[in-house]
Amino acid sequence: MICAIGAVNMREALHIDSTRRDVLRRIGAVGMAGLGGTALASSSVAAKPSVDWKPADASNYTGANRSAGDINWVIIHVVQGSASSAVNWFQNPDADVSAHYTVAKDGHRYQSVSDQNTAWHAGNSGYNQQSIGIEHGGYVSDSFTADQYQSSATLTSWLCEQYGVPKQHPADPATAGVIGHAQVPGSTHTDPGGNWNWGHYMDLVTSR
Ligand SMILES: [Zn+2]
Repeated sequence: MICAIGAVNMREALHIDSTRRDVLRRIGAVGMAGLGGTALASSSVAAKPSVDWKPADASNYTGANRSAGDINWVIIHVVQGSASSAVNWFQNPDADVSAHYTVAKDGHRYQSVSDQNTAWHAGNSGYNQQSIGIEHGGYVSDSFTADQYQSSATLTSWLCEQYGVPKQHPADPATAGVIGHAQVPGSTHTDPGGNWNWGHYMDLVTSR
């Protein structure tokens, strides 16, 4: 949000006279000072990792008003295809599926559904309602890239802090934390599969 607002001001600045541009610069400066003050006042609240917003079709998720306390899990998925193919599919009204985020092989992060809304990724309505779903471009038979682990872990760390999800990978999926789609009760899916390095991933999540 912060970056998007800045970008709008930058674009506007290209089309206006210098006086107005200077005013916008001063507004921007004040905004930055304000943000700095906020960051200093509450250093535990990190900025949200940047995402490329590609909204899912509204027929592919459930509108909700979730916040911390409503979310118990971050659920890790693998697309079985490219990240962009997943993001495009979520925009198709025929899909009837969605995930909040998709992380590409190169670490690029997309967001398709707002955190407050319930994405359809777990194949279990209770888990959908109480989780954030993150897809990863590629196949379960692939090895995952360092950039992908880093980018996803940065996002998961932020989500855990934002929503009070423990930074742990529980063997029992009834325990809150970061779990794989295959662990969701009733799941017929195997992702993220045996090539997903949970030890490495959780080390990255907890070190953020
Ligand atoms: Zn999955």
